[in-house]
Amino acid sequence: MDQQRRLHDILFDEQQGRCFYCARKMRPYARKKKEQQIRDFATKDHFIPRSRGGLHLFGNKVLACAECNGKKGNMSAFEFVVHMIGTSPL
Ligand SMILES: [Zn+2]
Repeated sequence: MDQQRRLHDILFDEQQGRCFYCARKMRPYARKKKEQQIRDFATKDHFIPRSRGGLHLFGNKVLACAECNGKKGNMSAFEFVVHMIGTSPL
């Protein structure tokens, strides 16, 4: 098993199979590139985006559902959570 897959599995267990941001239960691993677009597949996300100085290290990664990962874009984790709270219907 390669290191990236092993990291993915460790994070999946650590997060009990839930998205770091919305807590949705995720499908564990997209085997095909196309599956990474399906909203409930687990995808690796940089807590602090690489484009903003975040490092490509274990401690800077979480699993997010493909939907949250797509919406988060270039936001930091904190900015994304604030964005979600601000845009979710009450
Ligand atoms: Zn999510």
